[in-house]
Parts: sequence; structure tokens; C-alpha cells
Amino acid sequence: MENIKDIVSFIQDTFNTKAFIPLHEPRFRGNEKKYLIDTIDSTFVSSVGAYVDRFEEMMQAITNTKKAIAVVNGTAGLQVALRLVGVKPGNEVITQALTFIATANAIAYNGAIPVFIDVDIDTMGLSPKAVDAFLQQHGDLRNDGCYNKQTGNKIAACLPMHTFGFPVHLDELIQVCDKWNIPIVEDSAESLTSEYKGRQTGSFGKLGVFSFNGNKTVTAGGGGAIVTNDADLGARAKHLTTTAKRPHPYEFFHDELGYNYRMPNLNAALACAQLEQLNTLLANKRELAGIYSDFFNKQHIKFRTELPDTKANYWLMCVELADKIERDEFLKVTNASGVMTRPIWQLMYRLPMYSNCQRDGQENAEFLEERIINIPSSAR
Ligand SMILES: *Cc1c(COP(=O)(O)O)cnc(C)c1O
Repeated sequence: MENIKDIVSFIQDTFNTKAFIPLHEPRFRGNEKKYLIDTIDSTFVSSVGAYVDRFEEMMQAITNTKKAIAVVNGTAGLQVALRLVGVKPGNEVITQALTFIATANAIAYNGAIPVFIDVDIDTMGLSPKAVDAFLQQHGDLRNDGCYNKQTGNKIAACLPMHTFGFPVHLDELIQVCDKWNIPIVEDSAESLTSEYKGRQTGSFGKLGVFSFNGNKTVTAGGGGAIVTNDADLGARAKHLTTTAKRPHPYEFFHDELGYNYRMPNLNAALACAQLEQLNTLLANKRELAGIYSDFFNKQHIKFRTELPDTKANYWLMCVELADKIERDEFLKVTNASGVMTRPIWQLMYRLPMYSNCQRDGQENAEFLEERIINIPSSAR
């Protein structure tokens, strides 16, 4: 590929700078400072405060769900969401190997074991066909749920991840998981506002989890949100993430092992200011995706765009190169020129903690692992 230098120039022109261009940086163009100062003036900087409540209301409205619970980060939210659908130590959870480490870690924090199933090439997320094929071979449907014939362990949940904001094939996945009586928790950390057939990702599973880390579409500094349409699960999520304390004017009584996972008001203040600008940021990123799409088409490089029936948030944009040699050359030249690019994650079973986990053939995950590169995706 001789044209990588042209690509570097194009990205520099698009961002109107010759300085270093990061993969994704936050934009603070609204009430961020005002709201942060407000929390300090009010002294409510910690886990009680008006911004935490406001953030939860905003998330309910955005995701069109009954209940949103603000948490310290997305990983903690996933950990609690899995526990809430009944994942216990020694259980197994079906997920994809092509994901950020938090997905697998949230399973392991519950004492459970990930089972890695392949992704689809088009969505880069968990493949319903591959999940069904695995369960046809290894699944044993009993009265109290689905068991793995090979290990004897219960398969207590399925945790798909909407890679870079592109939704997985949700209808098909829900059909398969219903058939095998396996509850779904959505790792929607990357897919805030992404839609599948007109409905928000995160609202399909029993629970969905979002992240507001510094590199996500909008940030709380650090933070997360659990969303659900099940009022009981919502109440349980709030209870577990706030030390499982029974409400009382002054007595301390905690009725089970809970967590101190509540999002501080300082972070919620930042998140509220960011969410106010969500539509502008999304439109800005969608415009950038259009510009990239036109350009890379002319270069005969595959730029990933949203699939029919879905809407992507274009959190991190990506191109698919012909092979690993081209990928490595692209990474080398762009990064040496101050245009930050990054390969997709190494598959989870390449990491020491997860190398012994059960998995299927992983043809698609390994294909994508060698070819997908993220390119600068910040709102401009
Ligand atoms: C960002 C992210 C999370 C959660 O990350 P936190 O930093 O804990 O908020 C979880 N899963 C995926 C796939 C992510 O990209």
C-alpha cells in the first residue's frame, strides 16, 4: 500500500491539524465547568446529589428504559448485572472473544467462567448462529436452565457486546437464547444511542450496561449506567450498588453483600453536561463517518458503516485491511506520522487468565483480529 501517506494527509486535513491526532478525545463545549463548580459550591460531590438523579433520568429517556442506575464504571455495572440475572460462582457465561477485557473480567469477578463463541463478520459482535451451533452440540436444557454437557456447569447468562457501536443481530440472538432459556445482558458500553430496528441497544437484554469512561462517546470522567425495563431488577441493581443498605433515617442495616459502586455526583455533573450535547456530538461523528466512507471507497479500503435495520453511534470508526501485513504497515506509518490508529483487541483466549476457557472455532474473530484498525474518531 503506497497510499498510506495520502491517508495520513487526508486525516490531518479532515481534523485541520498537523499536530498529534488521538483516537478519541472528549469535547467539553457545554455546561461542564458550570455543573462541576455547582457540585463544589453545594458540597455534594460524592455519592448523593442532584446530578446523580438527573443523570439517571436522562439515561432513562435516552435509552427509553424504565430504570437507569448510575455506577462507578461500566465494568462494575456489568459485574452487578450478571449477578442480578443469577450468575453464581462456577457458572458459565457465553460471550465473544473479540472484545475489550472488561467483558470477560466482569464474568470472572462473579467467579464464573467465560465460554468464547465466534462473532459475525458483518457486526463484529456475538454470532447467534455460532451460539446456537455451540448449544446444539454442548447444551443440555433442564428445568432450571441450560447446562454444558462437557463441563456439567450451568450456562447462566449470555453477554453480547456491540462492537464499536455496531449492534449485534439481536432478533436472532434473542430467539436462540430464549430457546435455551439463557438470560441476556447487553454489554452496550460502546453503543450509547445505537439502534436495532428502531430500538435502543441496551434495552433488549434483561439488563444493559453503558460506560462513560474518558474515551467513550460521552464521558463522566469515569462512570457507567445499568438500564432495565424490569422494575424489580432495577430496584435490586440500585440496592446492590449502594452497599445493600436498608433505607432508615439513622440505623445501619445491610441485608446482603453489596458494593460501593454508586457514581459520585462530581462525575454525574460532568455526564449531565455531556449528555446535553449528545445529539450534536453524534451528528458531528456521523458526518465524519460519511467523509471517511467516501474517501476510503475511492482508496478501495473497506470502511465499516451501519448495517440495514440498524443505526450505529460511530463511536470508534474502523477500516478493514486485506491482511495482517497491510494492517501492520498501516499501523506503523500512521502512528509514526502522529495519526493515532490501533488494532482491534487481541482475542481473550490469548490472555493468560482466559487461555483455558472453552471456545468454538473462532474463524471470524481471528479474521477480524488480523485486519480491523480503528482510526481517529473524535467529534471535530
Ligand atoms: C469501555 C468498555 C467497558 C466498560 O469500561 P469502564 O472503563 O469500566 O467504564 C466494558 N466493555 C466494553 C466492551 C468497553 O469498551
